[in-house]
Amino acid sequence: MEQWFTLKKQEPDALLFFRMGDFYELFFGDAHAAALALDITLTHRGTHDEEPIPMCGVPVGTAQVYLSRLIRRGFRVAVAEQTEIPRKGQKGPLRREIVRVITPGTLTEDELLEAGRANTLLAIVAPDRRRRHCLGAAWIDISTGTLELLRLEADTLAELLARLSPSEILSDPALIPADHAGIITPSTAAPSREAAERTVTDAYQVAQMDALGDFRDEQIIACAVLLDYVRRSQAGRLPRLAPPIDHGLDSIMGLDPATRSSLDILQSRDGGSRHTLFTSVNQTATAAGTRLLSHWVSTPSTDLTLITQRQEGWSWLHQHPQPTGTLRDILRQAPDSARALGRISSGRPLPRDLAAIRDTLRAADQITGILGGLTETGMPERIRHVGASLYGRADALLERLEAALIAELPVKIEDGGVIAPGFDAELDRQRDLRDNSRRLIAQLQVRLSEDYEISSLRIRHHNQLGYVIEVPAAAGRKLRQHEGLSLRQGTASLARFSNEELSSLNQAILEASEKADELERHLFADLAQHCLNTPALDDVGRALAELDALISCARIMDRGTWCRPTMTDGQDFTLRSCRHPVVEAALHDQAAHDTAFIANDCTLPPEKHAILLTGPNMAGKSTFLRQNALAVILAQAGLPVPAQEATIGIVDRLFSRVGAADDLARGRSTFMVEMTETAAILNQAGPRSLVVVDEIGRGTSTLDGLSIAWATLEALHSQLRCRTIFATHFHELGALLETLPRLAPCTMAVREWKGHVVFQHEVRPGLAQKSWGLHVAKLAGIPASVLQRARVLLARLENERGQTRQPASLPLFEQAAMETPPPDAPLPTGHTSTDGLATLHALRDELAGLDPDSLSPREAHSALYQLKSLM
Ligand code: ADP
Repeated sequence: MEQWFTLKKQEPDALLFFRMGDFYELFFGDAHAAALALDITLTHRGTHDEEPIPMCGVPVGTAQVYLSRLIRRGFRVAVAEQTEIPRKGQKGPLRREIVRVITPGTLTEDELLEAGRANTLLAIVAPDRRRRHCLGAAWIDISTGTLELLRLEADTLAELLARLSPSEILSDPALIPADHAGIITPSTAAPSREAAERTVTDAYQVAQMDALGDFRDEQIIACAVLLDYVRRSQAGRLPRLAPPIDHGLDSIMGLDPATRSSLDILQSRDGGSRHTLFTSVNQTATAAGTRLLSHWVSTPSTDLTLITQRQEGWSWLHQHPQPTGTLRDILRQAPDSARALGRISSGRPLPRDLAAIRDTLRAADQITGILGGLTETGMPERIRHVGASLYGRADALLERLEAALIAELPVKIEDGGVIAPGFDAELDRQRDLRDNSRRLIAQLQVRLSEDYEISSLRIRHHNQLGYVIEVPAAAGRKLRQHEGLSLRQGTASLARFSNEELSSLNQAILEASEKADELERHLFADLAQHCLNTPALDDVGRALAELDALISCARIMDRGTWCRPTMTDGQDFTLRSCRHPVVEAALHDQAAHDTAFIANDCTLPPEKHAILLTGPNMAGKSTFLRQNALAVILAQAGLPVPAQEATIGIVDRLFSRVGAADDLARGRSTFMVEMTETAAILNQAGPRSLVVVDEIGRGTSTLDGLSIAWATLEALHSQLRCRTIFATHFHELGALLETLPRLAPCTMAVREWKGHVVFQHEVRPGLAQKSWGLHVAKLAGIPASVLQRARVLLARLENERGQTRQPASLPLFEQAAMETPPPDAPLPTGHTSTDGLATLHALRDELAGLDPDSLSPREAHSALYQLKSLM
């Protein structure tokens, strides 16, 4: 227990998996937590301070299953192994050490990782106490070794978090938005720039930071925090690291968290990943390809050259279906070399990891063969790049692996028999000795049983005694008389003997097999090192992933209903017969095939860059809004688009506010959320942005809401001048068509048929003629009596409103402004002075809790709303 306490002190926040023989045991509080989380039996063992010690355990052989469950539930696990081989007659406990700390961000095991998803560990630092808004970010996928650095402003952090979707964040929790609290590992104070630089240069074994690139202080410090943590988690060993990439944000399309979540890009709003944009376009054949394609889709670019190169890549593949099919078949057989390399560099390679490298290189070889035969076909730049990255880059390694590994590999190197015969002469010799001696033992058994006339005599291997002659107890009594035989062990039923010949054979086998094992481990480690010393492997892995992602795009084109969009650096926006890929797929999957998806056009020329979209609920407004946003994401990710024809001027930031914003978990009302998100658009959108919004202003009283929607649309149209689709249920906004020249009205076509409403899902020019609310209510099953009553009320309300309605020429927002009382106006009646006092106290308390220096603009904005709401 002393040992346990010492180790536990090293990693107090982790569950300690304490190796004892064939089990990992957990004690005290760890045992309680693990028994509960894993639903395993809690027992006791020994006492501490006269209390029984709670204990539970998991078998080493199946530990992965339990580990993955614990990690998924947010635990960290420290694994303490026996790091000493027990010697004969040894007294006292074996030495144990923590060999690894497993956390969600530091996994390398295939069993614990999702194949098609990067596993990101992110460090965020704010090294300068006076400039808390200047952050450094560093993130790594340990399983593949890719590392990126970024310097950013605090108010763009939420956007970065939404994009990276990290598994674990190392940071001062005060810097991170509360909704990520569950994945934060609090990190200690940031190191100085000098110390950080030492950590990074040591890790990369370069003399100067400059050798790695031109990085800012914040980036280097974040990188050092990250590497320190990784090193600690891997018991002092760093995995293989790709050189750090400076992650400039310049050429990435801006997508804030609200936009991301409203569009179900990689994950749907219900948290699943089945019905997402990504799944609707993912046709990759390899895990690395899946990870790359999902990276493309989640980071659409604004770089016209990059987008065009990807397009040219898959267009060419699409035009050459025969070789493309063969290439895909080869890729399908290729294993995940990036993750295999990650495991090799972590010092825990399995035989199958080396086999993965070999098979990857074989695939690369076959692919270069095919591409080589196609050079005359006007091969585009990206495909040529793939070919060049694969061609003969690691021939020596492939040759070596082919010769070294046997075909049917065991799971662990300890199982032996990994290295093929003929690869190493000394290994062959030792194996021969070992196997030969075994044959000699078999012969000895025959001879002895004849000599002693005991047919049941056997030579068996015994764990402690080695090879022994084993006979039944009765025969044993007879053998005791013989000279040259010494009794090693006798039980009630049998007796074990040994003689000199057997002992020396035993010794020879032991030595030879130990030598063979050691040699095999050595050769295996050597091969692993050879892999790590072959930098071309990274290029090969990346090239195969890129080829896979491009082939996936070509397969989408094969469907015949998707197109290659024309990209420009202007402000064009034309989509002909565009569809929502996810809704379309869902309709297709449904049994009722008569409900085909209705494609719609959308054009936003400079002279009509804003659309006012009206129509009842359920008519397809949200779907239309989203499909246009999704088309932009796909186009700028460099992918095909679900339309007949598309021309899109590069969008620098995309804003989508569609669907009920429900942020109650963060303690803000729906209206508050809506306004914060609207504010973000108005503060950040520019002439190259695309804004698609649904029903701004629905969360408050009608007049408030209408005024806000009115003023927002005016600003989008006249000041920001961005491409905009603005859906609303305020039909009054139609009046804006007279004053805003570049605003075009569109509506969802609806028909009435025998008292029923029929949604045609078609977008047409014009304004909705009526709101159809009662029809939709009927469709939803509101009882007839209530509907009847509602009809009467509606008629009365419309009548009253008709009499008091403002003329359309007086925009409502002006009217609202006129109604705002001047600041020095007396309080409205009903506000007693004690009310006022209470409000003042509430305001003061709220203000006291604010730290202006640590607020991002967005948080400050929220805080202001909060203060106002108290009045
Ligand atoms: P709204 O936002 O107007 O309430 P939605 O966009 O949510 O309506 O659409 C409601 C439903 O109508 C969707 O779930 C989908 O099944 C169907 N739908 C929407 N657009 C189309 C379309 N273009 N073609 C076929 N069905 C559609």
